Amino acid sequence: LLLVMIVLNACGTSNRTTSSSNTANHTTGCKQVGVLLPDTASSDRWQAKDRPLLNSAITHALPGVKVDIVNAEGNATTQQNQADQALTRGDCILVVAAVDSDQASAIVKNASQQNVPVIAYDRLIQNKHLKCYVSFDNKHVGELQGQYIADHYQDYMQQGQANLVMLNGSQTDNNALLFNQGAMNKLKPLIIAHKINKIYDIFVPDWNNDRARTAMEQALTANQNNIQLVYAANDGLANAAIAALRAQKLNGKVLVTGQDSTMAGIQNILTGNQSMTVYKAITQEATATAQLVAALSRNSNTATLTQGDTTKTQDGTAIPSILETPVIVTKDTIKNTILNDHYMTKEQICQNLP
Ligand code: BGC
Repeated sequence: LLLVMIVLNACGTSNRTTSSSNTANHTTGCKQVGVLLPDTASSDRWQAKDRPLLNSAITHALPGVKVDIVNAEGNATTQQNQADQALTRGDCILVVAAVDSDQASAIVKNASQQNVPVIAYDRLIQNKHLKCYVSFDNKHVGELQGQYIADHYQDYMQQGQANLVMLNGSQTDNNALLFNQGAMNKLKPLIIAHKINKIYDIFVPDWNNDRARTAMEQALTANQNNIQLVYAANDGLANAAIAALRAQKLNGKVLVTGQDSTMAGIQNILTGNQSMTVYKAITQEATATAQLVAALSRNSNTATLTQGDTTKTQDGTAIPSILETPVIVTKDTIKNTILNDHYMTKEQICQNLP
């Protein structure tokens, strides 16, 4: 029971004095929130979705709040400096989508020393002082990708085997590791059974699309174009792989996975160049984050939001968490998923469709 109470209390309600006390924690009544986003190049989502959705959700949940949103453009040191600037500016709650899950630990450490709670947004930060974590079930994202390959590789086999290239995300992003683990859960039995032959496997630094394209070109050259399956961890990496395949007139003939349901990803699916993507309802992710922000500011109970769910950091600390459910998207389910949810409209998708 004690453990349950500690966990339930961990997200913002512990160590707090009442607002009538002169030592009131300055999180109570906080009306200035810093939002730190990781980059603009690795996925369209950060600029097109997370930025506006976080801004509107926090503004809506906490009237009168000032939301300071910055983007580190893929540089962990820049992000560290942005966090320092946020604290100097007086931001009293931080929402951080870390460039580097380990390095961002210093951000949490500095903030917590000033009693500023940090909510890890989308990517876990390896620090036990983290207040809460809002994301998706990221291992399940990888499982959806891996399961798609497991369900369809036979259609692509050549002489009883299918050669697989793996383009994982950045090793400094905890999610990229989870996506890989989830995918490997589904692929390993087929690799062991020699049905799938993993011929190339990299973690693409910074999720950099140009690096991914070069890697794919190398894999094609080294294997005389004998590649049937591409595990691409997100739509950006998938698009890079498709560009390399196109140069060999192989686009559309190879199974390519993805993630994020970006505009380009959905268009690649419609043109037959990409096989699947994953829809993550960022609206829900942003709304859940905003609710936590508001609860922290009002010094109200966040446990009703996290409902006892936790995620463990490397040192074993259970961080109260809200994890939304990812959904697979294929050509046949675009309508029932992203269109139904108004994540994007048919007109937007069809505009500039190649
Ligand atoms: C996010 C993905 C995104 C990737 C690259 C991950 O942490 O969960 O949605 O595609 O970063 O930005």
